[in-house]
Amino acid sequence: MSAGLNLAQLEAVNYVQGPCLVLAGAGSGKTRVITHKIGRLIDVGLEPKRIAAITFTNKAAAEMRERAKDLIGKAAKDVTVCTFHALGVRIMREDGHVLGLKPQFSIMDADDVTSILKDCGGTTDAATARQWQWTISLWKNMGLNAEQAAAQAPDDNARVIARIMGLYEERLSAYQSVDFDDLIGMPLKLLADYPEVRERWQAKMGHVLVDEYQDTNATQYEVLKHLVGERGRFTAVGDDDQSIYGWRGATLDNLKRLPQDFPNLKVIKLEQNYRSTSAILRAANNVIQPNPKLFPKTLFSELGEGEPVRVVDAVNEEHEADRAIARIQSIRGGQVNPSKHREFKDFAILYRANHMARPFEQALRRANIPYKVSGGQSFFDKTEIKDLCAWFRLWINNDDDPAFLRAITSPKRGIGHQTLGQLGTFATQYKLSLFEALFAGSLPSAVNTRAVDGLHEFGRYINDLEHRARHTLGKEAALAFLLEWLKEIGYEQHLYDGEDNEKVASARWTNVLEFCDWMAGRCGGEIEDATGTDASESKSLLEVAQTISLISTLSEREKDQNVVTLSTLHASKGLEWPHVVLVGVNEGLLPFKLGDDDEHSGRSDGPMSEGILQRLQEERRLMYVGITRAQRSLAVSWTKRRKKGRDMVAALPSRFIAEMKLDENTIKEDPREKLRALRAEFAKRAADSAAEAKP
Ligand code: ATP
Ligand code: MG
Repeated sequence: MSAGLNLAQLEAVNYVQGPCLVLAGAGSGKTRVITHKIGRLIDVGLEPKRIAAITFTNKAAAEMRERAKDLIGKAAKDVTVCTFHALGVRIMREDGHVLGLKPQFSIMDADDVTSILKDCGGTTDAATARQWQWTISLWKNMGLNAEQAAAQAPDDNARVIARIMGLYEERLSAYQSVDFDDLIGMPLKLLADYPEVRERWQAKMGHVLVDEYQDTNATQYEVLKHLVGERGRFTAVGDDDQSIYGWRGATLDNLKRLPQDFPNLKVIKLEQNYRSTSAILRAANNVIQPNPKLFPKTLFSELGEGEPVRVVDAVNEEHEADRAIARIQSIRGGQVNPSKHREFKDFAILYRANHMARPFEQALRRANIPYKVSGGQSFFDKTEIKDLCAWFRLWINNDDDPAFLRAITSPKRGIGHQTLGQLGTFATQYKLSLFEALFAGSLPSAVNTRAVDGLHEFGRYINDLEHRARHTLGKEAALAFLLEWLKEIGYEQHLYDGEDNEKVASARWTNVLEFCDWMAGRCGGEIEDATGTDASESKSLLEVAQTISLISTLSEREKDQNVVTLSTLHASKGLEWPHVVLVGVNEGLLPFKLGDDDEHSGRSDGPMSEGILQRLQEERRLMYVGITRAQRSLAVSWTKRRKKGRDMVAALPSRFIAEMKLDENTIKEDPREKLRALRAEFAKRAADSAAEAKP
């Protein structure tokens, strides 16, 4: 059990009787402490189902489950390993009725929320609606409801948003729906205001473990506190230097408050980094050094000095991409230690913002290098997948009006906007959901007769599907059911009708099939429920469908594919790769635009405002996260010119490059690398053509 843990880690793992905080820098084995501690808790007699480990993403949860399974075997399957949001779903499924929510509530995604807000606020401008969304979300994360938000609103604009928030909340409850913030806020309300609910959950939670604690927000912290109660049996691990979600309301106050709220908190520091070479770790330590320290930390590595960190300059983004790919090829073609750490999956290209991926994708394609993009558009954000999910949502929750409107028009079934408008007015008048309105006796007075027939037919069809879905269990039955349904509604044809480009339509259809396969797999218990509970038994399609909106990728649990990773820095948190290229390390990108001009960006000599200083510090932490993803080699690249709108403008290297304090003699990229890359490429082509020439 103690294999592969140092003394400090062991101390954290063995301390099971009270609250424990592991505070340590990147790569020091914090996540490892959590996985091992799950095993330890079981060893000392805690029932697996009374252990909950909370991770930052579903992907991290899947990985932790996998590792726990390797460590402790079968018992791992009863442990709850999930995100705060998924835990929220579980709490609300069991106890949401107390707040008037039925167990089959819908979860609205960001796009749904934008359109509901447009409606509530009477605007067609998505940007404005998103602005409101942002503000409302922040308020919700601060625990404010519409009334409280109005009471503390500093100006007219805020008062307007607070009023829209009131309407929005009414809408959600009419739809029996919640948004992502509610997945934290409502469980908190349940735990805080209903003692019997709280006591039940506290009895259920023998020990709660939280990874990436520095990125929890105030509401999540309150949920945690209520879950563990005064006994405070929990283990939080985190690193204040990696707090990168301040813009989403995460707050380091949670770290400061722990010792105050739990006076018997045991604080353990880890100092050895097991991930990176000394050269990389030094650059990381140097970069983070100017930030104020919440807790002093030191970090050392015994992995040797290693390759120097390289700085690469490029003319523009295309050139930068070419150089990054040349570097990958050069390392792959290298002569040292030929079999080790040189597969595609050993490489990552990391950048500040999603849109920066494009030139790298193109260059990788040209070079025939397989890759995946993470942290970008989610599979579940694709139109075709959202169409299908709307149908599922409607089966589960008939009151979900946004889902109703999407399902009834995807594909179009001869029910026009006029009819839907009339139906909407009728439903509002009688305070019914659109679905309920379908079957109201007086509907024919509001909608013309032919349309009523069409609406009734749709309603009956939904009821029929719902009934069939409820009784469809297991993978094969589920797949057959889904394919038949798609045929019935003519979805494939709908895709081809809606797209001039056949290739695009066919790609969409492939996504649909892939999605059905995945859904069916979940029904068959091949993959865990997103709420982190055991999956080994079959589930009905309806059960599976409810948590889809929490998931962003189909391949959460797939064993790492052998491909190069392209990722945003935010999505790279907690992960590691042997070779990392950090790209776009320019002023204005990383740190991201801090102000409108130099004066505000802190480049001039004048004093920086507090707000800008804080943003700069968060950007610096992001740089620190990026650097510390690398195990053996790190290159940092920047471009001399950058696209700004349609123009190319001169660009500067990021101040963080200077802050890494690299040795001037070693940072320039080794010119021999280019040569090696060429040689490798040449050898590959020769091998390819030799293979082709074979009969
Ligand atoms: P981050 O701050 O990036 O989340 P972390 O502190 O969670 O990092 P881990 O991911 O747990 O660190 O560990 C980093 C690497 O070091 C992993 O590859 C892990 O397997 C390895 N590692 C951790 N502890 C030990 C140890 N005691 N002995 C050997 N390897 C270790
Ligand atoms: Mg970690």
